[in-house]
Amino acid sequence: MSLRFLLAFASMASGLWAQGSPLASRPAIRDTLTFLQRVEPETLDEQVRLCEIPAPPFEEKVRAEYYRKKFVELGLQDVRIDAEGNVHGVRPGRRATPLVVFTAHLDTVFPAGTDTKVKRSGTILKAPGIADNCRGLAVLLAIVRALNEWKIATEGTIIFVGSVGEEGLGDLRGMRHLFEKELKGKVTHSIALDGTGLTACSGAVGSNRYRVTFSAAGGPQLWGVRPRESHPRARPGDGKNRAAPSPRESQDHLQHRPDRGRNLG
Ligand SMILES: [Zn+2]
Repeated sequence: MSLRFLLAFASMASGLWAQGSPLASRPAIRDTLTFLQRVEPETLDEQVRLCEIPAPPFEEKVRAEYYRKKFVELGLQDVRIDAEGNVHGVRPGRRATPLVVFTAHLDTVFPAGTDTKVKRSGTILKAPGIADNCRGLAVLLAIVRALNEWKIATEGTIIFVGSVGEEGLGDLRGMRHLFEKELKGKVTHSIALDGTGLTACSGAVGSNRYRVTFSAAGGPQLWGVRPRESHPRARPGDGKNRAAPSPRESQDHLQHRPDRGRNLG
């Protein structure tokens, strides 16, 4: 099976599938996509189960163990958790190469103690992390299931991975470990499933991480009272003696200059 075939699975399973694609007309793909549509309610149930196992940064262990058991149930080989905490499962092809690594990250941005119980309202599921990345994790399992169901033999080998440390201070520690140690120099293709799958990217997206330190005289900020020095809400690069923006000013600033928006964690 080609890489395009696999991508078709991923796209369909994550809701990206475009009707009328030439790939959709191939019988093997059509059957498999129909299967994925049929089992979608079960995939959603799996998504909920995963979400209700908290996996805050650096504490992915319990969810990783659940994922490991799923890999075993699905018949993947050499299932294990590596030194960094990534879960691996191998689906051997006829040959060792090409070697496709199919990943979904296990961690969420939400800190320990966050209530991750899923609330259903009709077709809407609400919970911290339900999309990013429980959807990716559930879809990855559905893809393995589809490959098994249709007894699809691949030319190359696929390694499925639930990776750790994708978010925030995790700094991609799981993927770094994978590419710099475990599978160094061996991976020919890499596919990552992340979030709802409403967009697809066929190249490396890159990731810039900054550690930003603000220093100021500081002091408590009260409504109607502005400290003289800059405040953590101040814009990077603002003059040192500029008064701190009020919450209202900060909001206006972000609306007028969305390019200056920063996600600080
Ligand atoms: Zn994500």
